Amino acid sequence: MIRASIKSKEKEDISLLINIDNHPWNYICDCGQASGFSVKEYQNTKAIFISHTHFDHFLGWDQIMRHQMDSKQKVIICGPLNIAKQVQSKLRAYTWNLISEDAITYEIREIVSEDLIKVYSMVPNNWELIEEKTISSKVVYQEDNFTVRYAILDHKTPCIAYRFDEVDSLKINIEKSPYPGGPWVKNLKEAFEQNNPDTEIEIKEEKIRAKDLFHLIEKKIGHSLGVIMDHAADESNHQKISDLFSACDIVYMESFFMAADKELAMQHFHSYTIPSGSILKKIGVKEAVPMHFSRKYNAEEIEELIREFEQAFEE
Ligand SMILES: [Zn+2]
Ligand SMILES: [Zn+2]
Repeated sequence: MIRASIKSKEKEDISLLINIDNHPWNYICDCGQASGFSVKEYQNTKAIFISHTHFDHFLGWDQIMRHQMDSKQKVIICGPLNIAKQVQSKLRAYTWNLISEDAITYEIREIVSEDLIKVYSMVPNNWELIEEKTISSKVVYQEDNFTVRYAILDHKTPCIAYRFDEVDSLKINIEKSPYPGGPWVKNLKEAFEQNNPDTEIEIKEEKIRAKDLFHLIEKKIGHSLGVIMDHAADESNHQKISDLFSACDIVYMESFFMAADKELAMQHFHSYTIPSGSILKKIGVKEAVPMHFSRKYNAEEIEELIREFEQAFEE
């Protein structure tokens, strides 16, 4: 399962911590001011996914960087066009004469278009950007048990939405099986994955051909989680959201304004409660969480805003 938690408190910006089952690292989506993180969570972050660099999404990156510096690790930063230069500019605003070259390595994956990513690397202390490669891919990040794909939304500036997908896995239905669990389960899965139906599977003293056990195998579809930040609530963005997030298990969705402030939303290329809730409903998202509310609203208005969103998602 993939879980997100909002680490920004009331009146702060937006920042999400992402955790994946059976995976030792955690991930961060956007870096607004957010005081809910622990130092350990920062230090354990392997990659950061930035939607766009309006200051309420990027301001808190310095704080993460501070706690990761001298970790000797590689940290990956994914983001929109120009993210590499913007990260470099932040780093170059400080003095680094006491930091060694191996203190940290940044790999920056700059999303240029729907299937083009430029990869840069950067080390202390002059933070020169080295262009490593350009890859043609819709996948911006991959681990053994999950992948991250993206869409480029329009917020009068490119704003990247990210979809995390756990890899599908195989499960043996032990209840249907005449045998209790044991090492054979792993061997059977391997035989299935490698398409070796004639492999002999040893269960206690018995030897059984793999294909005679294949009926016990079930495919477990991986869990999926989406993070959709700032975007105009228009047809072209909704088409891109539909293409990437259809049937997603859970989506965290920008819902900056209430319906009464629709005009403000349009002026600022933001979404608001009703289109945010209804587009996710329309594309079969199972659970929707509104996030990133304008700071102009008080606690009571935020409750009302959430109700509006939920109603639109339920209708
Ligand atoms: Zn923005
Ligand atoms: Zn924003």
